[in-house]
Amino acid sequence: MRSAANDLKRDDASAEQDLGLPPGAFADLTSGRRPVDWDLIGKAAAVWPLNERDLLPIHDDCPDGVRVHRLADSVASGRTINRGGSPYYEYRDTAMSRVASYRPEWISMLRVVEDSDPDNPAVEWNRGHLLYQFTYFVGPVNYYYRWEGVSHCVEMNTGDSVWGLPFAPHSFTSRSATEPAYILALTYGGDLLGDAQRELSVLGPRKARALALPAEQAALLRSFAEARLLSTEELARRAKLPAPYVAQLCAGEAAATGDETAALADALGVAVRELLPTRIGTEAGVHLAYRAESRSWELPEQGRAAYRVTQLAGDPAHPHTTALEVDVLPAADASAGWLSTYQHQYAYVLGEEPVELHWEHRGERRRERLEPGDSAYVLPGTRIAFAALTADPNTAGDADGAAARVLLLRVGGATTTDVRFALATIPGDGIERYLDEDRLWFKSDAAQPGAAHPDAAQPGTAHPDAQESDATDLESAREH
Ligand code: FE
Repeated sequence: MRSAANDLKRDDASAEQDLGLPPGAFADLTSGRRPVDWDLIGKAAAVWPLNERDLLPIHDDCPDGVRVHRLADSVASGRTINRGGSPYYEYRDTAMSRVASYRPEWISMLRVVEDSDPDNPAVEWNRGHLLYQFTYFVGPVNYYYRWEGVSHCVEMNTGDSVWGLPFAPHSFTSRSATEPAYILALTYGGDLLGDAQRELSVLGPRKARALALPAEQAALLRSFAEARLLSTEELARRAKLPAPYVAQLCAGEAAATGDETAALADALGVAVRELLPTRIGTEAGVHLAYRAESRSWELPEQGRAAYRVTQLAGDPAHPHTTALEVDVLPAADASAGWLSTYQHQYAYVLGEEPVELHWEHRGERRRERLEPGDSAYVLPGTRIAFAALTADPNTAGDADGAAARVLLLRVGGATTTDVRFALATIPGDGIERYLDEDRLWFKSDAAQPGAAHPDAAQPGTAHPDAQESDATDLESAREH
């Protein structure tokens, strides 16, 4: 409420007037002394140019930094879903959080086929879905995918994986009536969900189509030139390049060198990265990764490694998504292998062996034993480590020498690279205020005692991480 009122340049008195509140009520609301109820949110959304959701915080369902999801809870969530009138999949939930947009399901293939024909009538195709999908295969699973009207089928086995684009129809079946055949289907929306989707739904499909950027520099040049009302001649003059050549670059008829791209970025007043198109590595909408061809390496380093890591399917178009198989080596102890990332993180214990998950959150170290089929969600920035539970390195381990195997999927959240750059530009205690605005944007006079710091005397309202900060009161320096 405080942050929204500040953005709209309302002090307590003017906010109270807009919202029909008695004097002093706004300070009670922003200090937590008086609850913000639905009526008030509705009133604010009616009189101020904002949406109800702008005033609603998200639920923190991960106060310990990690949410563990047990196999028994997964089994209890099981739903068998029919396709074409008979059972096709059993779905089970695994670890997810309200903080992150990914939706990881364990899915067992109940339809058994005898061939790998994409046109087999026993295969029930879906209509595709919005979410991107990373899939990890266990057992003899057939994967079907359709792109631009062409149907494909590939035979997948344990350790194979695939990354796929939204809205491509797909299906899965089993090639064996006796062996287990299942997948871990980790779907996520990335930047497509949330604010972008809501904004585009207001603009409508025509404008959304016009906003679609092909992965070419020419499209970026045209978009920035248009935004800046720059003619081709003016852009060429600023970049010190011949105008006909710049026209060719903008039309996609020529390719700029690195130096020319830098000159054009300078001319447009943007960072060079804004003129570099994304790279999409999918073929027929998917990126297949077969385990036998996948790259593996040891971590922290060869010779005294805690883990052997194998790269799974992904795509350059999603640089903030990482899928890995992590073999926890028998000698591994947690101190050797701390892992940290800016991404949301999902872990699923593959195979037959348990593993110990260690983590650090808000200065506290914790650990939890994870059994096969257990999974965990880890908040961004939470250090984790896996430790082998088998004591003797000589007797422990599978044929590959691993004591346990964990599937890791890491996905970027709403804190994009641009947001992270912006965080670095916020001075002083600005980050605390960005997360949890606690004061008026200017120092009010004595007629409003305490209004500048309505929460200052309220214990328990500070962000739980506040004690880790070295915040100082720079308010007077930041008045404007
Ligand atoms: Fe799917």
